[in-house]
Amino acid sequence: MKVDSLWPQLLNGLFPPRCCLCQWASGNDLPLCRDCRSELAANTLACQRCALPLPRPGICGRCQREPPAFDRVIAPWLYSDCFAHLIHLWKFSGRDDLTPLLAQLWLDGAREPGDIDLVVPVPLHWRRLWQRGYNQSQLLADRLVCKLPATRVHPRLLVRRRATAPQSGMDARARAHNLRGAFTVRLPCDNLRIAVVDDVLTTGATAREAARTLKSAGARHVELWCLARTPAPGH
Ligand SMILES: [Zn+2]
Ligand SMILES: [Zn+2]
Repeated sequence: MKVDSLWPQLLNGLFPPRCCLCQWASGNDLPLCRDCRSELAANTLACQRCALPLPRPGICGRCQREPPAFDRVIAPWLYSDCFAHLIHLWKFSGRDDLTPLLAQLWLDGAREPGDIDLVVPVPLHWRRLWQRGYNQSQLLADRLVCKLPATRVHPRLLVRRRATAPQSGMDARARAHNLRGAFTVRLPCDNLRIAVVDDVLTTGATAREAARTLKSAGARHVELWCLARTPAPGH
């Protein structure tokens, strides 16, 4: 056995991974224990297009009225309090070491990732990237692609043309307006099947705008891979 493959084992022996939610030893290689994991709710009954939780499988009213530019969304988990805490640690508390855990949760929950040529993270504006130090969607995309060998990441295909105001507190219409023209594409995407990676899908305004931009650059199929989906307002 090579020395560098012993290091992780040795470190795990000395400092067993702790659960990032309850702080007890996690009992496995990842920082989430079985009890806390069992509190995460799977997004099983959902819109086949936008992954909005629904009482029965089908297409939600909004996707029927205004079909989105993306072909489908894979969002295996519900954005519960538990999941929100995980995402908050990952994005705002510098816990970029949670990326392997979150990638594994996505892989465990996503039943059919399908055939994809390129994986593209949702870009952050450079100013936000500079403040946070990392783009969480890029970390997640890199990690997923390690596990899905037929795909590759193109980190700079989609770029943010301008900074957009933070979207929390905006309704769907305000978000769509805030994002119009926010992205631009660096290369032609003729005939490509593209997966856009983001952390959480809320109103879908970011996904709709990113997909619209990629489709107008020639992409044949655009889907969104995100970790969790928020329910409809008032749900
Ligand atoms: Zn725990
Ligand atoms: Zn829908």
